[in-house]
Amino acid sequence: MANIIVSACLLGQPCTYRGDSNYCAEVCRLAEQHTLIAVCPEQMGGLPVPRPPAEIVGGQVLTRDGRNVTAEYRRGAEAVLRLAQCHTASCAVLKARSPSCGKGQIYDGTFTGQKCAGNGIAAEMLLDNGVPVYTEEELDDIQF
Ligand code: SF4
Repeated sequence: MANIIVSACLLGQPCTYRGDSNYCAEVCRLAEQHTLIAVCPEQMGGLPVPRPPAEIVGGQVLTRDGRNVTAEYRRGAEAVLRLAQCHTASCAVLKARSPSCGKGQIYDGTFTGQKCAGNGIAAEMLLDNGVPVYTEEELDDIQF
C-alpha cells in the first residue's frame, strides 16, 4: 500500500482546459492496492475550468492568446509538492504531455500539436524534489 499522487483528470475529474476528463481505467485500478491522492495543479493554482489552452514557451507558460500564466502554474505545482510531502507519496502518476503534468515530453509551445522533450511545471517540481513521476503510459515501470 503506497500513497500515490495522481492527475485528477486521469481519475475522471472534468478538470481539463476543455472541461472534460482524461479518464483512464488502468490508473483508477491502482486504487485497489494503493491510496490515490487526486490533484489538478492548474486548478490548484487558481485557474478556472474551462480555461484557454496553455503551453510552455521559453520557460514561461503562455495561453494561446498570449496571457502569461506561469505564476498560476508554479503556485499549483507548489501545492502538489506540499501534498506529496505531507503524505510521503511514493510516486506520482501524471497525465502525459500536459504543460503541468507531462513528463519527458510536452507540447512544444507552438500550439500545433508538435511535441518536444521536457517536463510540465508540476512534474518537474516533483522530480526536482525526489518524487518519481510516471505518466499513464508508464504504469508498468512503477516501482514501489
Ligand atoms: S493540470 Fe494535470 S490534472 Fe489538471 S487537467 Fe491538466 S493534466 Fe489533468
